[in-house]
Amino acid sequence: MDHIVIIGNGISGVTLARHIRKLSDKKITIISAESDYFFSRTALMYVYMGHMKFEHTQPYENWFWKKNRIDLVKGFVEKVETDSKKLLLKDSSYISYDKLIIATGSKPNKFGWPGQDLKGVQGLYSKQDLEMLEKNAPNNKVCNRAVIVGGGLIGIEMAEMLRSREIPVTFLVREKSFWNGVLPAGESAMINEHILEHHIDLQLDTNLEKIISDDNGRAKAVVTDKGETIECNVVGLTAGVAPNIDFLKDSGIELGRGIKVNRFLETNVKDVYAIGDCAEQHEGIGSRRPIEAVWYTGRMMGEALAQTICGQKREYNPGHWFNSAKFLDVEYQTYGWVFSERSKKDNEHHFHWRHATEKICITVAFDKDSYQFLGINTFGIRMRHEIFDQWLTENKDIDHVMTYLKGANFDPEFYKLYEDEIVAKYNADFNKNISPKKKSWKRIFSIA
Ligand SMILES: Cc1cc2nc3c(=O)[nH]c(=O)nc-3n(C[C@H](O)[C@H](O)[C@H](O)COP(=O)(O)OP(=O)(O)OC[C@H]3O[C@@H](n4cnc5c(N)ncnc54)[C@H](O)[C@@H]3O)c2cc1C
Repeated sequence: MDHIVIIGNGISGVTLARHIRKLSDKKITIISAESDYFFSRTALMYVYMGHMKFEHTQPYENWFWKKNRIDLVKGFVEKVETDSKKLLLKDSSYISYDKLIIATGSKPNKFGWPGQDLKGVQGLYSKQDLEMLEKNAPNNKVCNRAVIVGGGLIGIEMAEMLRSREIPVTFLVREKSFWNGVLPAGESAMINEHILEHHIDLQLDTNLEKIISDDNGRAKAVVTDKGETIECNVVGLTAGVAPNIDFLKDSGIELGRGIKVNRFLETNVKDVYAIGDCAEQHEGIGSRRPIEAVWYTGRMMGEALAQTICGQKREYNPGHWFNSAKFLDVEYQTYGWVFSERSKKDNEHHFHWRHATEKICITVAFDKDSYQFLGINTFGIRMRHEIFDQWLTENKDIDHVMTYLKGANFDPEFYKLYEDEIVAKYNADFNKNISPKKKSWKRIFSIA
């Protein structure tokens, strides 16, 4: 019987194992150095914030694995020997495989800053990082101030976590406006305001120069490229992540920034595959990036590869890009592509509406000649994924989107809807005469 060995018990590795078990009787082993059982990485912040215990981040009961004959090995794989189909673990033991799937996720970036390895300096990725944060920043007596370096989604999560314990936070962001490599200017500006209103000391256009140590090898301050010295006890390094693949250097498996795979998630070596954050497509699928470090793509890759491993060869096909996140208490959703000013192409035009007082806005991207709908970002309004997915597939134009926007709203009827206001601004901005139609989303779905 084939022995399927998966390195990594994150969403991609575990989804793969579950689906192989549904489809077959193969022997399955998952190896992970991080935790005994699969947990939801995206929920780590809520443990620190006291909303749940760590055990509650584990979607399956501990007996699930044995019952489903998925063997779990706690250990770190140091070397992959593809000729002999063996893995060398840190404790010097070997595990043989017939098919190997690498699902080792990401690791936080470090850019060689002086002092980056001092005590009190840490990232936010793993269970161990969460435990370390609990020690480094249990309260605002032990931690008088934290400095977070790097303005992305994990940085703002870490700021929110620390603020939940009333720890003063300085947030150093290299860009002139928060996440403006991804968000259009109006949205990025709104999030800048939101961060400041949450009493986070946001310092834009500011880089970390070095971290200064006290006599015990602990961080005691950071120095910025503006020449400012900021005293602190904790430094959070959240300047993005990179595929976690260092242990594969001499394995013969083709590496770029990640592990190079084709649409079937196969590497250059027979019987070796890669999925999740660590996988890099030879070319991005559609407008997607070759590496996508998001939860649902890891799950989709796991589902697709399980079919291939069980004899039904299936391409990984993620469909239209979508994502969601939270900026403190503002919910963000994106469907299709809405590029920032920095990365948008000449034909991409934007319609932007922002609420006069609240942190609510949308941006719709469309082709300036054909008016084809390209994508939408929403902040503070929840929209229905399936409707936008269908409108993107059917190449609807922005007028259609505006006409039926009300029905795409996810919120129940008694929530205030802003679509009339949005469409009025669209009509004014583009000299149009659209009248919004209120059709239920189910009806839109059938006529869209
Ligand atoms: C704080 C935080 C919040 C996030 N929030 C969101 C969100 O809201 N939405 C979203 O879409 N995405 C979010 N992400 C990203 C998302 O969590 C990742 O895309 C996803 O977890 C990747 O899953 P994976 O299975 O590829 O890898 P991982 O979850 O990283 O799992 C890989 C596992 O492999 C183990 N491993 C690595 N190397 C070895 C080795 N050599 N030997 C043994 N084991 C090894 C690792 O320790 C790890 O346990 C967040 C990430 C973080 C850190």
